[in-house]
Amino acid sequence: MSGSVEQIKAQSGRLRGELLKSLADPVTGALRESDQTVIKYHGSYQQDDRDQREARRLAKLEPDYSFMIRTRTPGGVITPTQWLGLDQIARDYATRGLRITSRQALQFHGVIKTELKPTIAAINRSLMDTLAACGDVNRNVAVAVNPQQSALHAQVYAAAAALSERLLPSTRAYYEIWLDEEQVAGSGSEADEIYGERYLPRKFKIGFAVPPVNDVDVYTQDLGFIAIASESQLLGFNVTVGGGMGATHNDPETFPRLADDLGFITPDQLQAVAIAVVGTQRDFGNRAVRKRARLKYTIEDRGLEWFKDEVERRSSVKLAPAKAVRFETSGDSFGWSQSDSGLWNVGLRIVAGRIEDVGTQRRQSALRVVANLLQQSEPGAHTPQFRLTPNQNLLIANVTADQRAQIDQIWLDHGLNSDAKNVVLLHAMACVSLPSCGLAMAEAERYLPEFAEHLEQLRQRAGLQDTPLQLRISGCPNGCSRPYASEIALVGKAPGRYNLMLGGDHLGGRLNVLYRENLDQAQILATLEPLLQQFAEQRESNERFGDFLLRKELIRGKNRIPAQLLPDTYKESA
Ligand code: SF4
Repeated sequence: MSGSVEQIKAQSGRLRGELLKSLADPVTGALRESDQTVIKYHGSYQQDDRDQREARRLAKLEPDYSFMIRTRTPGGVITPTQWLGLDQIARDYATRGLRITSRQALQFHGVIKTELKPTIAAINRSLMDTLAACGDVNRNVAVAVNPQQSALHAQVYAAAAALSERLLPSTRAYYEIWLDEEQVAGSGSEADEIYGERYLPRKFKIGFAVPPVNDVDVYTQDLGFIAIASESQLLGFNVTVGGGMGATHNDPETFPRLADDLGFITPDQLQAVAIAVVGTQRDFGNRAVRKRARLKYTIEDRGLEWFKDEVERRSSVKLAPAKAVRFETSGDSFGWSQSDSGLWNVGLRIVAGRIEDVGTQRRQSALRVVANLLQQSEPGAHTPQFRLTPNQNLLIANVTADQRAQIDQIWLDHGLNSDAKNVVLLHAMACVSLPSCGLAMAEAERYLPEFAEHLEQLRQRAGLQDTPLQLRISGCPNGCSRPYASEIALVGKAPGRYNLMLGGDHLGGRLNVLYRENLDQAQILATLEPLLQQFAEQRESNERFGDFLLRKELIRGKNRIPAQLLPDTYKESA
């Protein structure tokens, strides 16, 4: 089977394709071409080691194929027992440990074809799955980590987890292929009321924010829900639609976009509205031009009012005017904090989301010891959790004071007492990029520590000791690390060269703009240094770098700033 992505989806037999044959083929480490599309819906991408590509080509060997596998973990919530299972999988089948994504999933890299099935089966034994973690369907649902308000987090998480289940594709293919479920009559022709024959035109992302924290970058999501609460009781959600990061270099038809407010709904209306949004995009999204297929373009092309009418008609829900919301941060907090339940939480910085043992810093081993410790207290009066954050960090939630002391000691015992000296690195994100991502144009994860060190030196030289800078690096314009919603971003253009994007706001409410194109490291630093000096000399009290660039008109461009996020001084010019 071959053809366009739309044909492959429609002819896949509800996501079966010819995966069983592809997996059984001993001649190659790759899948058949059409199955490389189908397997995405099962939570995996075929990749090859790009560091080895040229040498293997010269040696007349096929590329060094392996697979990335991504979990479906709504809100990034994982029990200690599940963590132990995932850690074991990483050691048995993957290379480079575990990696936290910017959507609160865990990724395994370097899984070879013959070990795909045992890996996915092992994930299933940990009571998790990878279904719909990739592909043109709803992806992993992101949820604010929200460590302090445990009761509210539980309510929002429950709504998100239920929606994640509701939006799974209707197919037994996953269970037949990976878990040896027997095929029954009708396999391959199951009805899918939500996705239909061809699934969505493109990937679809949902995030739940809990003010005052916008850690999910809710305005970058196709569909966002902003929790409205009173004294830890969930009243409902503001609904936002049409955010998205991906773009193509030098193609003005494609662009990052922040979401629009659609209105307010009560919790019982959530699933109907979500299904109506997904259904509208399924029916009206652009299936002819794939790079224009995201929901943001449907809304851009047809208008928000049209979209709202369609959603209200399909859901039979009349949306109320959006409530006022206020975000105060989009970042994570690190160190210990206490919940309203009295239990403790600790935020751990994980650079670029990568959890592995490196030299004396044995992060993966330390977390295994922590998980073993916490496993002993579940189930019980409190439920300790690992929570992956949308900023690629890790929160360990709901631990007792006694466990807190033990975790501190475990951290010290594993050489992890010297984190967080570099303030830039503390608030930075990077996508995986090279060597595994087939779309990468420049380094990201592997370059982040080096570039963050240079930027940290500039920050300190400018005398900005008390002012954080938000940095995000992506290896290509697809923007997996949400670079366009950052104060400073590097977007890969070619090996060692980046577009420098500046001026986003640190709350996730304003996009940055292209400042200089195709720069190498020396040019980027030479561009940033005088701007940071000027910022240090002329900023107002508590002003952030992105806001300063806008106020001083050092950047210009099309910003989409939701009114409720605008600092008062900018409201007139928006
Ligand atoms: Fe790959 Fe581009 Fe996404 Fe980075 S932003 S992981 S390079 S697709």
